[in-house]
Amino acid sequence: MDSRTISLVRTTFKAVAAVEGGPEKLTRSFYAILFARNPEARDLFPASMSLQRDKLLTAIAYAIDQLENLDRLLPFLQQLGRDHRKYGIVDAHYAAVGDALITALEQFAGTEMWTEEVEGAWREVIGVMATTMIDGANGDDGPPVWMGTVVEHIRVLDDVSVVRLKLDEPMDYAAGQYVSVSVPSRPRMWRYLSPAIPANSAGEIEFHIRRVSGGWVSPSVVANTAVGDRWSVGSPLGSMTRHTARGRDRLLIASGTGIAPLRAQVMEMAARTDNPRVSVFYGGKYPCDLYDMATLQHIAATNPWLSIVGVVEDDTDPWWTDGSRYSQFSGAIPPTVGKLGTVVVDHGPWDNHDIAIVGSPSMINTTKFRLQGAGVDMSTISYDPW
Ligand SMILES: Cc1cc2nc3c(=O)[nH]c(=O)nc-3n(C[C@H](O)[C@H](O)[C@H](O)COP(=O)(O)OP(=O)(O)OC[C@H]3O[C@@H](n4cnc5c(N)ncnc54)[C@H](O)[C@@H]3O)c2cc1C
Repeated sequence: MDSRTISLVRTTFKAVAAVEGGPEKLTRSFYAILFARNPEARDLFPASMSLQRDKLLTAIAYAIDQLENLDRLLPFLQQLGRDHRKYGIVDAHYAAVGDALITALEQFAGTEMWTEEVEGAWREVIGVMATTMIDGANGDDGPPVWMGTVVEHIRVLDDVSVVRLKLDEPMDYAAGQYVSVSVPSRPRMWRYLSPAIPANSAGEIEFHIRRVSGGWVSPSVVANTAVGDRWSVGSPLGSMTRHTARGRDRLLIASGTGIAPLRAQVMEMAARTDNPRVSVFYGGKYPCDLYDMATLQHIAATNPWLSIVGVVEDDTDPWWTDGSRYSQFSGAIPPTVGKLGTVVVDHGPWDNHDIAIVGSPSMINTTKFRLQGAGVDMSTISYDPW
């Protein structure tokens, strides 16, 4: 893929993004064309397509952004291909998807922008994406979907559940990766969740789920999950795994249920002996939001390489909570009051650290901004592309 091809594709995509409502129109028209030409494909998708459209757009935008960075892009696409097996997608669907995307782009761009050369550039990029996803899907021996039975559901907060499952077959994922999950009350509405414990041969897996107001899936998971429910779980995704170079330490920053993948990494490290120093900053609005603090502090108590700092915006729990779990661990250190990114920077410098941040997009951006302001090299920070 040469620089001219990349530039043509980026220019067309920028033109789409620049028009008000352009990205949404493009994805709407893409799915309309796909389903008109391949009516059977409609059954592979959920009834509500809005999130699906957002996901498609995020994936295309990420791929276009990373076209020079194939070391990062190709593994991402292979993982995506493996994950897409859960929809029942076969090789032939990729050609249909590519053709529908070309037609949608052509309609959107109009004859002036959509030259033969532009079409050729898009076909080349889509071809690389499809081939890589197909290779990823076909090169995997694992099942397209793991089935698991809920064995425990604990409401640790009014809006946060810890759900433990036993998978029928163990899944081999790296601590820090995420998986897509479909629950019986919301069939085919796949959502990403991050396992909070490392993979194990018994197939046990644990998720922490926060209820998002107005969400399709998370309110139902928190309110309705019952022991015995059967969940479907897709292939593992994500590159935010433990990969600290020798001689470097780790800084892990999480808010809310973002602690789950980082706790899995810490638990995995606790089973080893040669760990770097690891500093975890765990943020929430109130002390009660730090629902996993007792577990983290228990691990830290017997692992001197690990330090945990709780960070809250308000040091008093609201009246409607039934007391904080924060203090369940007898050695609990009170949380620091302040903004997560500011407290992290105040504990720096973080020169010799590989950094992982997990939380909402706004929390990730604010924290990155604070670290950048403190002179941290942005290439040392990882977070997942979604
Ligand atoms: C890589 C990755 C890992 C994730 N891991 C976890 C996890 O371990 N635990 C967990 O609870 N969630 C996790 N999520 C979020 C999860 O996938 C869902 O997005 C979330 O549960 C909301 O789904 P929903 O169907 O209830 O809401 P939707 O119906 O998808 O969305 C409803 C509305 O809420 C907005 N929204 C979606 N998610 C959020 C959010 N988190 N905060 C605020 N607004 C939101 C949407 O933009 C939309 O406007 C992860 C997401 C990603 C991308």
